[in-house]
Amino acid sequence: MSETREADLLSSVPDGLFVGGAWRPASEGKTFGVADPSTGETVKEIADASVADGVAALDAACSAADEWAATPARTRGEILRKAFDLLQERADDVALLMTIEMGKPLAESRGEVTYGGEFLRWFAEEAPRIQGRYGANPEGTGRIVVSQHPVGPCYLITPWNFPLAMATRKIAPALAAGCTVVLKPASLTPLTTLFVAQIFADAGLPDGVLNVVTTTSTGPVSEAILSDPRLRKVSFTGSTPVGQKLLAQAADGVLRTSMELGGNAPFVVFDDADLDKAVDGAIAAKFRNIGQACTAANRFIVHRSVVEEFTRRVTERVESFTTGRGTEDGVTIGPLIDDRAVAKASSLVTDAVERGATLRTGGEALDRPGTYFAATVLDDVQPGSEILREEIFGPVLAIVPFDDEDEAVRLANDTEYGLVSYVYTENLARGQRMIERLATGMMGLNMGVVSNAAAPFGGWKMSGLGREGGAEGIHEYLQTKYTLTPDPFA
Ligand code: NAP
Repeated sequence: MSETREADLLSSVPDGLFVGGAWRPASEGKTFGVADPSTGETVKEIADASVADGVAALDAACSAADEWAATPARTRGEILRKAFDLLQERADDVALLMTIEMGKPLAESRGEVTYGGEFLRWFAEEAPRIQGRYGANPEGTGRIVVSQHPVGPCYLITPWNFPLAMATRKIAPALAAGCTVVLKPASLTPLTTLFVAQIFADAGLPDGVLNVVTTTSTGPVSEAILSDPRLRKVSFTGSTPVGQKLLAQAADGVLRTSMELGGNAPFVVFDDADLDKAVDGAIAAKFRNIGQACTAANRFIVHRSVVEEFTRRVTERVESFTTGRGTEDGVTIGPLIDDRAVAKASSLVTDAVERGATLRTGGEALDRPGTYFAATVLDDVQPGSEILREEIFGPVLAIVPFDDEDEAVRLANDTEYGLVSYVYTENLARGQRMIERLATGMMGLNMGVVSNAAAPFGGWKMSGLGREGGAEGIHEYLQTKYTLTPDPFA
């Protein structure tokens, strides 16, 4: 990838706040730098919003709300579809941008463009299908009318790990439902969101429907928006502790909330699994996004009779990975997002080894510029190890053996999280039992990646509230009204 191509792309990305359909600098003139995690170097300075800027973005969303809610659903859908088409035309640019600011290999960024784009297309199609119902009340003395209405202005907060898809997964259903929004991307990876805002402007989205504020004053800006009585909803994707804080703040205004929080996914391999499929699935479920996915498999729970063979094969695959900057040909593992992520992976591995796990490969930070951690396999991880309780968010595959199905279920469910689970078995009845016994909002049965715009994504327990995608996703942004009308024949 040529340096000129990257420099041209970076200079084409807006560096302001997107408020009321216009790009503007932060009111106090402040900026902050966005770094490339493969080098640690700042690649662009962008506007650093103040509290006043955040409130101005909400003002713009509120001014545009009535008109957007009254815009025909077909028109809203057509704008989303136009944004989808523009995203496809600019796919190479947005993929490169994601790799620069977040670090994932270019092939994975391209995959995210496909996945993230699908939310625009899916909700373009869902907008005209918002439906109500009409029926007689049981006494026959009146008619019940049920209708759906946009919830109103929304505040959307996204994380850094999927800079495109986490934004489109919220923007698309909100706009389809007729809501206007203020979006605050992660301060580590805001450039992709700014790029997407320009796509929406070019797609003809009316001013004020989508507003983007980038800031390092995240807490104060968010608090001001959340405590404003005009706001009606907050949708958040990120860590469970921040989600809990936002839920508490949302309580004052009785805001609608959607929370996509942390995970600690079990990946269960039974003795009757097809090991080829299980190993392929394990590599995808663990190392996609350099392990930095809420859906990343965190605990590999493998039947004792196949654990050695499984471990040998995944270790062989991991040792064949190529680590480097995501733009380089053949790279399969990029850098972690920052120093904190490297320190966390390192301390989880150290703790597991001190408690008796065997280190098969990797296990340490790489001695090179950027924030790299070696792809790692640990087996025989002991109960009580932190790595079984904490979300790893890094390229570390931790294996625990089990002896029977009940034990596998107990180990898999032994977590406060409940986002996703993965099960490998060739026994249909066992697979069906796992669907009923594992306490997660999603499951991959002989599948290592489950994300799909047409499916309801979301967790149980401390992994969150609500669903994104699927037929369910638009309802997060709709509120129901029931109207009783007289019997028209009386
Ligand atoms: P994070 O620290 O919780 O940050 C997520 C977002 O919240 C960022 O935009 C961040 O802004 C913002 N934020 C932080 N403190 C805030 C506050 N006091 N008020 C309002 N907003 C605040 O999480 P992360 O490290 O970026 O992302 C990793 C986490 O996201 C993992 O736990 C992962 O499992 C989860 N995740 C979940 C899903 C899902 O669908 N369930 C998907 C992807 C990721 P700043 O960047 O400015 O701090």
